Amino acid sequence: MARSKSSSAAGKKVLPSYTIQGTHKVVKAGDSVLIRAPEQESHPYVARLEKIEADNRGNTWVKVRWYYRPEESLGGRRQFHGSKELFLSDHFDTQSAHTIEGTCSIHTFRTYTRLPSVGPDDYFCRFEYKAATGSFIPDRVAVYCKCEMPYNPDDLMMQCESCKDWFHPECMGMSLEQVRTLEDFFCPDCHTPENKRAVYTEGVLYGTKFQA
Ligand SMILES: [Zn+2]
Ligand SMILES: [Zn+2]
Repeated sequence: MARSKSSSAAGKKVLPSYTIQGTHKVVKAGDSVLIRAPEQESHPYVARLEKIEADNRGNTWVKVRWYYRPEESLGGRRQFHGSKELFLSDHFDTQSAHTIEGTCSIHTFRTYTRLPSVGPDDYFCRFEYKAATGSFIPDRVAVYCKCEMPYNPDDLMMQCESCKDWFHPECMGMSLEQVRTLEDFFCPDCHTPENKRAVYTEGVLYGTKFQA
């Protein structure tokens, strides 16, 4: 990916924080920031601020560690990648601090799936990405449902009350309308005559506990 590379002058001094130009927002090392991208890009770049430094000519520089979007990775965007998914890369750059245009929140996968609502600046990261080789850490991820896909938090899934595995309604041949009216969901493997009867007596075919 083409990031604007800048070289910085010698004789730099580390600064504890930086106020984003045109705002009152203060950022410091460790914060997640949005970096202005070239005009042809539809999204700003996302990075973790590693270090803030001033040179002896009064310019402020930031060392950043880039987050990649799935479509920027060598393998491209896959079906299980969430729309707000980012990979923490091993790609570092030094940029003028003026390229920072805002802050954002990068959640763990678990925290992200529990957000009451996802704002425009909420993202999640579950993989580190090695830019040179296109490999991921971890290189394995849990898979769910009979389709054996990793969990995409953008997709509705139902948890089986018995085996606790998660399933896509469409893979179970269920409509969203059916999902909404259900209380307890049992996957086909766990759907024994006993729990079937219990569910039927409540007047519904299946039940569900789902996570949007
Ligand atoms: Zn599925
Ligand atoms: Zn089950």
